[in-house]
Amino acid sequence: MTAPHRPCPACQADRSSRLEAYAPADWDVVACGNCGFVFLRNPPPYAALEEDFAWEKTYAEKKKQGGSTGLSGLNRRLRAALGLTGGKRGDAKFAAWFGAGKVLDIGCGDRIRTAIPITPYGIELSTALHARSDAAMRARGGYCLKAAGADGVWQFEPAFFDGVILHSYLEHEANPMRVLEGIHRVLKPDCKVYVRVPNYGSLNRRVVGAKWCGFRHPDHVNYFTFASLRAMAAKAGFSTKLVNHANLWVDDNIHALLQRLS
Ligand SMILES: [Zn+2]
Repeated sequence: MTAPHRPCPACQADRSSRLEAYAPADWDVVACGNCGFVFLRNPPPYAALEEDFAWEKTYAEKKKQGGSTGLSGLNRRLRAALGLTGGKRGDAKFAAWFGAGKVLDIGCGDRIRTAIPITPYGIELSTALHARSDAAMRARGGYCLKAAGADGVWQFEPAFFDGVILHSYLEHEANPMRVLEGIHRVLKPDCKVYVRVPNYGSLNRRVVGAKWCGFRHPDHVNYFTFASLRAMAAKAGFSTKLVNHANLWVDDNIHALLQRLS
């Protein structure tokens, strides 16, 4: 299949060079010639992602192949030994960050990550996953839109949400700036966005290279470092705070909280 090239999602520059070591035959993983951001230059169109490349299928395939996770297991043990893992469960963290209002989970898959009394809303492109999450969210007073995140987020009223969750989503999104700008519009002032994305700056990626668990072709289309995530968020009107600041360098993921600046 062929897909059109896109400009850098971080700075819109058109110059980029292929990272041959990270780019399998059909997929152009490139570094921006202007800002250095690493991204997939030819992502599949949204229509293909609805069915052909739905993440739950490629994830299952990667698991079946026993794809290398390199240092991940070691890192988990190291982090545990250093007392850097654990803490509050996800839903308790969301309650602390978002309070008890309406929370939007973009790319929610088939699950609800927040607990009562939060009212859950979602956006999900995969047909099968959307059907399941919509039913569950309606039972709790919210609903799930079937759309791409960059389109769906603009369909809600301004200042509608008390919090937004981007859990393993932004790395899949071909238009991350449009999503962040849309979130700025639908989020109440001073409210927060939780972001979890693969950490391209991790030690593990440097050690295992092309076999790093964060590479998933063609599902992952953006490869963030903390600096590039913070720069993109700032452009959309957010301040950024790292959640896993103590162990970012050995963590395969970045966990961050963005706050909407008024
Ligand atoms: Zn760039």
